[in-house]
Amino acid sequence: MGGMWLGHAANDTPSDPPGRRGPRARMSHGSDGPDRPIGPIVYRRAVQATCGHLNRIDPERPAPLGVCPTCVAMGSEWVHLRQCLVCGQTGCCDSSPNRHASNHSAEAGHEVMQTLEEGEDWAWCFVDQVTMEPTPQGGWEVVDPFFEAGLWYAHEAIDTGGPFPFPAGATADDGFPLAVWESTYRGRHRAGTLDPDQAAALEALPGWSW
Ligand SMILES: [Zn+2]
Ligand SMILES: [Zn+2]
Ligand SMILES: [Zn+2]
Repeated sequence: MGGMWLGHAANDTPSDPPGRRGPRARMSHGSDGPDRPIGPIVYRRAVQATCGHLNRIDPERPAPLGVCPTCVAMGSEWVHLRQCLVCGQTGCCDSSPNRHASNHSAEAGHEVMQTLEEGEDWAWCFVDQVTMEPTPQGGWEVVDPFFEAGLWYAHEAIDTGGPFPFPAGATADDGFPLAVWESTYRGRHRAGTLDPDQAAALEALPGWSW
C-alpha cells in the first residue's frame, strides 16, 4: 500500500486543508510539502460539509500573480502561493513565515482561497473549514476528504482479504481509522443524512450491507 496516512495534523492551519493528504494527495507532497512539521494525528470530526460562501467567489477577479506581493515588498520569502477567490489577491501559505493568505482572509473577511500550486486544484473556506474541488461547469463543490480516503483504504483492505465489516478499532497499516470511518457513515445513513453519492459508493464495496 505504501505511504502514510497523515490525517489531520494538529498543527494544520486553515489554508492548508487536511484533504490534500488523502491517498490522492500522496502523489504530491500534500499541500505544503515535506517542510511542514507533522504533529500528532488528530482526526477531524466528520461533519456534514457545506460552504455558504460560493456566491462570494468573483469569477472576474484579477488573475493571480506568480509572487506574494506583500512578501516582495518586505523582502521576505514564501513557500507556496494562494489566491483569494473573493478579490483575487495573491498571498503566501501558512507554511510561509508571513502567512499572508490567512492574514488577508481574516483582515478582509474574504472566506475562500484557492491553491496556486502546480498540479493542485483545490480551494478552502476559512469559515466553514471545508475543502472544495472544481466542477466541470467551472464552479466549486465541497468534497469530503475523510470519506474519499476511507473509501480508498476500504477497497485496499477488502481486496487484500481483510475482515469486513471492519472489526471495532480496525485501522489500516498506516493508522487510518477504518472502523471509525465505517461507523461514521453508517451513523449518517441511520440519521438519514448520508449523501446519496456516498451511499452508492459504500454499497459498491464488496460485501457491504446496511
Ligand atoms: Zn464557506
Ligand atoms: Zn507573503
Ligand atoms: Zn480577498
